[in-house]
Amino acid sequence: METNSRLYCMECRQFVPVRDVHDCPSEYFAAVDREMVGIVDRLYKMGITPMIAVWSAIDMGDIKDCEYLLTVKVDIERRISEAVLGELPSGWKYHWETVTADMSELHMIAYVEHWYNFGFDGESVENRIGELIKEFEAFLDTRDSEAVKALLLLMEV
Ligand SMILES: [Zn+2]
Repeated sequence: METNSRLYCMECRQFVPVRDVHDCPSEYFAAVDREMVGIVDRLYKMGITPMIAVWSAIDMGDIKDCEYLLTVKVDIERRISEAVLGELPSGWKYHWETVTADMSELHMIAYVEHWYNFGFDGESVENRIGELIKEFEAFLDTRDSEAVKALLLLMEV
């Protein structure tokens, strides 16, 4: 499954076809899959800055279009206190591991699922991914973005 991640300016809330013709500083840019824009906009509004927001669906089975490893992930640039967003929806997790090879840290919120396509009506990988994204957007909508922003600033000091 091909995903198409592109440069997105979080400040202007638009995709940037060519970096040089967009004046915003580079900290506003993220690599974003089109379907992930809703999540990125919501996090950015809260003061959490995604760097990468992508999804993938890897066909795992011997039979085509039957068994998939689904991943939806958002790299949020720095570690935040989990108390700020609170408990994530089922299946979503924070990842703060240090990647030992280059000692760089992961700062990620991600969902990973082994998904089976049973061929029910209207069921497809794209629909399932869409469902997961909508679920996380709905979760973010239950958070008070001003309060999250204030908390993050407070914790920085
Ligand atoms: Zn911009």
